[in-house]
Order: sequence, then C-alpha cells, then structure tokens
Amino acid sequence: MNWDRKGFATRAIHAGSEPDPSTGAVVTPIYQVSTYKQDGVGGLRNGLGTGYEYSRSGNPTRTALEECLAALEAPSASGGGPAGARAFAFASGLAAEDTVLRSLLAPGDHLVVPDDAYGGTYRLVARVAGPWGVEHTPAHLSDLDAVRAAVRPGRTRVVWVETPTNPLLGVADIAALAGIAHEAGALLVVDNTFATPYLQNPLALGADVVVHSTTKYCGGHSDVVGGALVVRDDAVAPWTDGVGQVGPGVAERIGFHQNAMGAVAGPFDAWLVQRGLKTLAVRMERHCDNAERVVEFLLGHPRVRQVLYPGLPEHPGHDVAQKQMRRFGGMISFRVVGGEEDALNVCKRTEVFTLGESLGGVESLVEHPGRMTHASVAGSALEVPADLVRLSVGLEDADDLIADLKTALA
Ligand code: PLP
Repeated sequence: MNWDRKGFATRAIHAGSEPDPSTGAVVTPIYQVSTYKQDGVGGLRNGLGTGYEYSRSGNPTRTALEECLAALEAPSASGGGPAGARAFAFASGLAAEDTVLRSLLAPGDHLVVPDDAYGGTYRLVARVAGPWGVEHTPAHLSDLDAVRAAVRPGRTRVVWVETPTNPLLGVADIAALAGIAHEAGALLVVDNTFATPYLQNPLALGADVVVHSTTKYCGGHSDVVGGALVVRDDAVAPWTDGVGQVGPGVAERIGFHQNAMGAVAGPFDAWLVQRGLKTLAVRMERHCDNAERVVEFLLGHPRVRQVLYPGLPEHPGHDVAQKQMRRFGGMISFRVVGGEEDALNVCKRTEVFTLGESLGGVESLVEHPGRMTHASVAGSALEVPADLVRLSVGLEDADDLIADLKTALA
C-alpha cells in the first residue's frame, strides 16, 4: 500500500505497520532480538535481501517506526513536492542531534544556532561539539538579516532552527531560512519537537533534516525517551571534505553514523513511540484546544505580565506561524508580574499541572525554565528570564486546568 497518498491520521496508524504476513498481527511485534540467522556466510538473510543481521544496524520494530516517521514528514505526503524522506530512530533526542552534527560537521566547520533553543541543544553544540573544533554563532532566527550576518560563507555547513522555540515560543520562517542556508551552501536542520509533523512539515518547506525528541508529543505518554532524524531523500551535502568518506547524500551519511555511532532506539522504545504516533493527530487537536482555553484565561489575569503563544495575533511570529503551522500547539510560556519569586510560587502551587521537566505528554506539566530545563544556559546568550513559567498543556479537562492555575496565581 502506498500510504503517501493518504491523510495524516491514516499514515500515522498504518505506515510501517502492515499486518504481519506470517501471524496476521495488526501491530508490529516487539522484536526483542540482537542477531538473526543468516542464509550463508555473507549471504542474504532471508533469500530476498531484505532481512536483518544485527539489531544495532537494523531491527524490524525500529524499521516500522522509521517508516512511519518518514511517511509523516515526507514532502511528497504533505503537498510539499515529489521528494520522499528517510527516518532514523535514536535512543534520545540528544543522541539524534549528536548524530546529525557529526554526520554533517567536521573540525573547522561552523554552524548557526538559535539564540533561544532547548538548553541541552545549546550545551551539546557549545560544550561537546565546540571542544572538537566545531564553531557556532547564536542568532535571533526571526531576524533574517541577523542570520545572514551570522553565516560564514564557505565555513557554515548547518543552520539549526527550532520553531516554535523552547521555552520562549519564538517562531522562525522555515522557507526563508532554507533559502538563506542553501544560498550559503549550508543545510537547514529543523527541530520539530514542539510542533510535531501533525502541525508543521519542515521538509515540505525546504528544510533538509528534521530532528525530534520523540520523548515528547510523538511518544506522548511520558513513558519513553527517544529521538529521530528525518531526511529529505534528495538532500545532498554539497561539500566533499570531512566526514568519513561517506558520500554526499545526507540520508546516506546519517545512516552510516547511526550504525557507526550506535545510539539507536531499542525495540521496546521504538514500539512505544510508534504506538504514540498512531494517536498523534487527535492528541494534538486536544492539546491545541486546551492551550487556547488556558491562553485566554492567562491573558485576562492581573498577575500575568505577558503570555507567549504563537496563536496570539500580537505574537511577533504569528503571521509566519499561521503560514507554516496547522494550529499553534500545546506549549505556553508566561511571565508573571512579581518576578522570579512569583514564578517559583506558581510552579510550587499547582496540583493538576505536575511540576516536572519534559513536555508533550497527556498530563499537564509546569516548570521554571531558568532553574530547570534551561539552567545549563545560565550566563550564555540563551539565558531565559527569571519570571518565566512554562506550561505543557495536557489532555485533561480545560476547566480543571484553568481552576488549577487560578489557585496557583491567587
Ligand atoms: N529538542 C527539544 C525542543 C527539546 O525540548 C528536547 C528535550 O527537552 C530535546 C530536543 C532533547 O531531547 P531528549 O530529552 O529526548 O534527549
């Protein structure tokens, strides 16, 4: 079946999980196995050349997830042109990020990173890739001139985008940034964790690689840590130096590094993420409905100084978000009138919103980015305001979420 021509929810449920030909099982089993019987030394594994040999290189449960992710992000499936996509599943979002950085960058290369992004991404770029000789420049991605100024012709290999950003919900114009990156001979990598493929398809807008922390909305139930890279299958790294003589195809490079570095998703984790994807469309609709109700409540509250949500017409990225997103997502940040102390009190007082890191699960979470998810960027260009509270709005009844925030802000 060519799932490419089907709607999003149909692809999410069926792509990669055709019923098992030998048992009829409608869900791909968890292939908890490390190695596979081979037909002969160096021969084909199942006589067809489609078998497996070792589960770091490939595992059927992981393949099912990878096929599903590719079907959800492929430009050809979302009206963004004829290109397809290939997906690769990892043990965490940061493992996926590390793999794409090492697949595309070598010592002496440069990348542009957002000046507002998940703190762990910045820590990886600045404190892990940096000491290995990869340089970076933080830039405000909604300012296209600032991005043009940050690019170093001939040295910049990657422009890294997160949109909407974590935690300030900034919005970047993916199509415009793809143009700037490609003109400079660089590739555009987009972290699509907040939006998910249901709300936004970066590859269809010209990006080369999509990154996911599948820990978040893709998994959706706060029970798995995982990551993914999805690559336009026609994406090419236009430079030939550096990385391990793998060739210019970006998918080829990432496939090589996934196996060579080995931070792959295990079978049970892959199975949990794929189970989550099957309900992504309905969950995202409800996340968005609930977030809109919570935003409306926060806007009218006297102790709230500013609400950051791309769905608000006054949000500086609203027009771009409207152009490139289906809806505006389940993440909200807000700044309180009473400074850090008030922000910490809100986090302490909620009962339905659980105080915790992470996001994108069925349960609502509250956190203080300055002291929690973004503590690692204190003192850097990515430091976040101390009066900021971040909400991951879950799937509970919106009235209960609003009543909880009302009490916490009182
Ligand atoms: N990207 C974003 C936007 C995130 O919020 C996170 C984690 O919070 C990551 C990447 C890293 O993912 P993981 O925690 O699965 O390694």
